[in-house]
Amino acid sequence: MPLDEYASKRDFDRTAEPPPSQGPGPGNTYVIQKHDASRLHYDLRLESDGVLLSWAVPKGPSLNPAHKRLAVRTEDHPLEYGDFEGTIPEDEYGGGTVMVWDSGTFESIKDLPLAEAVEQGRLEVRIRGRKLKGNWALIQMKGRGEKNWLLIKMDDEHADRETDITETAPDSVLTGRSIRQIAEQG
Ligand code: MN
Repeated sequence: MPLDEYASKRDFDRTAEPPPSQGPGPGNTYVIQKHDASRLHYDLRLESDGVLLSWAVPKGPSLNPAHKRLAVRTEDHPLEYGDFEGTIPEDEYGGGTVMVWDSGTFESIKDLPLAEAVEQGRLEVRIRGRKLKGNWALIQMKGRGEKNWLLIKMDDEHADRETDITETAPDSVLTGRSIRQIAEQG
């Protein structure tokens, strides 16, 4: 089952994260969650076949096409996870604070189903988020562990070599809250 790994890592009596359930496809949800866990990182999620394919991006996305940001593939998440904002108990998997940092839709630029592009290790998508827009590439690093990918802004009118979007737009697109406010309010 696609969400077995997701389910096996969590105790749903203890965490407010949604239990596994596969949604109807096809949809095109895009979301990035800012996750203040043992280490702050950003979780990029793209919908495919009723689940959210997921990558953890330690430094977060950069609008500068010269920046290649490590993106580590993680377990698929249920679609409902895209709206999850709150705290995960400290002693649970991923314990810490989760914010919906950006959300919207995406489409594959190439005429290729997303699952096939993932299989081939190269995704090119057009993102329509509140913060991120335009074309982005996700490229699997060969020979360095199949979980390691690179997230790269492709050069277009939405590229920006000066602005650090994680600094200029740090708060939730869902509630406008900061990580600190979410941590305090749950
Ligand atoms: Mn995470």
